[in-house]
Amino acid sequence: MLNLDRFQPPAEPLTVAHCEWCGREIYAGDEVFRIDDGGGFVHGETDCAKDYAAERVYDRYGYISAQLDVE
Ligand SMILES: [Zn+2]
Repeated sequence: MLNLDRFQPPAEPLTVAHCEWCGREIYAGDEVFRIDDGGGFVHGETDCAKDYAAERVYDRYGYISAQLDVE
């Protein structure tokens, strides 16, 4: 009888990294964003990239005044 084991998907997906935002596993074949300065990765199919960017890039969200304050 033919051995077809090599055609079966692996039982465990291959973990290649952990998300810099949520900390969960990133598997080979997952959609990701690579972080420009840190070299890490965040999930591409969730809000991880947006939330990571909002936390790292911006320090305030609101309405800007004539004096350039954001409240
Ligand atoms: Zn994530």
